[in-house]
Amino acid sequence: MTELAPKLRRSLRSALCTPLNRLLNLVDPPVIVLLYHRVAELASDPELLAVSPDNFRAQMRYLKETFPLVRFEDDWGKLSHPAVAVTFDDGYADNALAALPILEEIGVPATFFVTTGPVAEQTRFWWHELERVVLGSGSFPPGVTLEVRGRKKSWPTAGDAQRLAFYRDLVEIMKDADAEERDSRLAQLRLFAGDEDRPCALHRAMTVDELRVLSRSELVTVGAHTVTHSRLAALSPEAQREEIAASKTKLQEWLDREVTTFSYPYGKRSDYGARSVALCREAGFAKAAANFPGQAHRWSDPYQIPRHLVRNWTVEVFAERLRGFWTR
Ligand SMILES: [Zn+2]
Repeated sequence: MTELAPKLRRSLRSALCTPLNRLLNLVDPPVIVLLYHRVAELASDPELLAVSPDNFRAQMRYLKETFPLVRFEDDWGKLSHPAVAVTFDDGYADNALAALPILEEIGVPATFFVTTGPVAEQTRFWWHELERVVLGSGSFPPGVTLEVRGRKKSWPTAGDAQRLAFYRDLVEIMKDADAEERDSRLAQLRLFAGDEDRPCALHRAMTVDELRVLSRSELVTVGAHTVTHSRLAALSPEAQREEIAASKTKLQEWLDREVTTFSYPYGKRSDYGARSVALCREAGFAKAAANFPGQAHRWSDPYQIPRHLVRNWTVEVFAERLRGFWTR
């Protein structure tokens, strides 16, 4: 039952959308925007954010040989062929250390949307700290009670499966929190686990120097991705304005160039709102990226460009998925 419903939905959508999208593609060649986060080999990756260097290199070679490649910030209005754009979210150190050399080796342009807080303070992204404390700690207690929206809620946390379920619930709770609440929850969880906040080389954000190296590449454009990677829809208009505008200002100060593109943290339609879109326009961004699948056409809202998430696929799976992207 739980398996059937999404499958049925997908086939219905495909039956309805595929012929329509094929027709629209003839009228206006679309751009498929790909969304990556990391190029790394990870032992544990519960959010499925990393693509291995070997798979990434093969994917980039396939793109270079198969499609015209455009930049996210380009004017796509006059394209005569369907094209692909590559983007990265968040600002992990491996973007500069592992992705950039491969992009340069093959000659693929990419836009990197960077969260400025973790770069400035060299703090971990909160989901990795959560993963480390909840899933990585050997001394976690067998049960935990937390206050969530004014009510006490308990989780059994004795076995691996229970801890993973607890971690998944916490990811959703933390997405709705602002940076201050997330920090205090993490501090509380560290206490439960008898753990300390430790620097972490594996999951770190770029340093400012690494970001400068990245942005000096002719193939690279840097865009903004807020200061604290908070879900904009959960914030007040003032807090949203600060997240959006301050990330632009900080990047411009570091890189000494205009930053004209933005991507919404998490990026689903429920993660930002009409106010967030208006604030992006007001802050002076020319284009913004979302995180739901779709094609970008001449008539698409430039402040809600759809993107397709890429996973750690072999080039064969990547090629097959890409074929599907042209009709979704
Ligand atoms: Zn992000």
